[in-house]
Amino acid sequence: MEMPTPDAAIVSRKARIVRRLLQVLPEDAVIHEPHETRAYECDALTAYKCPPLAAVLPASTDEVAAVLRVCHEEGIPVVPRGSGTSLAGGALPTADCVILGVARLNEVIETNYDDRYIRVQTGRTNLSVTGAVEEDGWFYAPDPSSQLACAIAGNIGMNSGGAHCLKYGVTTNNLLGVTMVLMDGTVTEIGGAHLDAAGYDLLGVICGSEGQLGVVTEATLRILPKPEGARPVLIGFDSNEVAGQCVSDIIKAGVLPVAIEFMDRPCIRATEAFAGAGYPDCEALLIVEVEGSDAEIDNQLGLIGQIARGHDPVELRESGSAEESARIWLGRKSAFGAMGQINDYICLDGTIPVSELPKVLGKIRELSQGYGLDVANVFHAGDGNMHPLILFDANRPGDLDKAEALGAEILRLCVEVGGCLTGEHGVGVEKRDLMEAQFAPEDLEAQLRVKDVFDPAWLLNPAKVFPLSVTASRRVAAE
Ligand SMILES: Cc1cc2nc3c(=O)[nH]c(=O)nc-3n(C[C@H](O)[C@H](O)[C@H](O)COP(=O)(O)OP(=O)(O)OC[C@H]3O[C@@H](n4cnc5c(N)ncnc54)[C@H](O)[C@@H]3O)c2cc1C
Repeated sequence: MEMPTPDAAIVSRKARIVRRLLQVLPEDAVIHEPHETRAYECDALTAYKCPPLAAVLPASTDEVAAVLRVCHEEGIPVVPRGSGTSLAGGALPTADCVILGVARLNEVIETNYDDRYIRVQTGRTNLSVTGAVEEDGWFYAPDPSSQLACAIAGNIGMNSGGAHCLKYGVTTNNLLGVTMVLMDGTVTEIGGAHLDAAGYDLLGVICGSEGQLGVVTEATLRILPKPEGARPVLIGFDSNEVAGQCVSDIIKAGVLPVAIEFMDRPCIRATEAFAGAGYPDCEALLIVEVEGSDAEIDNQLGLIGQIARGHDPVELRESGSAEESARIWLGRKSAFGAMGQINDYICLDGTIPVSELPKVLGKIRELSQGYGLDVANVFHAGDGNMHPLILFDANRPGDLDKAEALGAEILRLCVEVGGCLTGEHGVGVEKRDLMEAQFAPEDLEAQLRVKDVFDPAWLLNPAKVFPLSVTASRRVAAE
């Protein structure tokens, strides 16, 4: 993956830049020694690494604004960072950038059950948002598998999803308002504490903007009362394609489970060894969860069981207790980590129409055989959000390039069948050069103009989202 050559003039001014940052932040909030900046050299796309010029950890919106004013005046690129769990390289630094981490912005500002929202600083982790309200019977719905670590900042940056987003929607459907600081230090309020705001839907533009438009410091999130009950069912099949067809039939039937998750044999085995979730040994497994009263759960699971039996499942087992349900979900949420213990992998994130699942799963197998690289599948099947994990050996020369070429073919396939390059992980650097497979030049130009408006100097999160060939002239013009 090509990255732009660092600006030597900026790198040579490092001492002055650090001095200026220290004028607006306490000493322990400015990280600049080379052995310290290494901690920020990558996110969860670990194939790419580059220590930043410096990293800063402001503790308030005012401090974020002060940092951005300094960087704007000095013409220094800034990479906003939450917890650095992006799988698309969204928080990857350049050697001439300042990483702006929001980890110290982690307070709950307001909880309002009457109007069903919570306002938090965006460095707060996803799971701890639910943690702040669950004793009172509430929860925050979007649940990325990384929710123990990832921050609301990154969830907004990537418009993140999770297993339970089939029913509740992704981040954008649960975000009511934000405080965002523009690159020149201007503090803006967008949206509010209610469902819709007057004027253009700027919140829709901000959510999923991958740190390109501003630094989000506070967010108002919708919270929901916990459901009366929930129960997952495990449905095993002897082929990926049949499992895919079963998902398509459940969705077509109009039943709305809260989650439909898919795992193939390599993932089932790795996860069992890691988490002992009690999964059956089969080619493909669906975890389907429904919610409601006992009667509603029984009714929905009855319909789902009827559809599944039409596909000759090798296993059809409802969870028998809260402990078993927790184990089933622990397994699913540990799947990426479990695979990571035994293999290097690239995690893709394409979304397709659900009816195309059987065809695309079959085609992925053919492509994987053609490239001689194994692909494991674990993904949010109910909304067609696929995560093929391409397994490779980082120590074998050429393997990464081969894995990336296979990844590009799979993502192009997602676009060809009417889907898109990213469901929830964002574009980052990973899919940057594939954007032209999805968008016509005019579409890309419209997106660039949005960036022109929010960040006319083109300093925020360089080399992400747009192909370098498309942005080069923009950056030169901005200088
Ligand atoms: C094991 C594992 C499982 C995962 N499972 C899921 C999953 O189920 N669903 C899912 O959607 N993702 C998943 N992810 C991907 C990742 O966790 C999400 O993209 C997450 O939202 C990133 O959050 P973060 O705080 O780590 O953000 P970072 O990685 O720090 O940043 C992500 C993006 O947001 C931007 N950003 C960060 N902070 C700000 C800010 N304050 N203002 C503006 N922009 C900002 C960054 O510049 C970057 O572009 C998984 C990752 C891992 C490692």
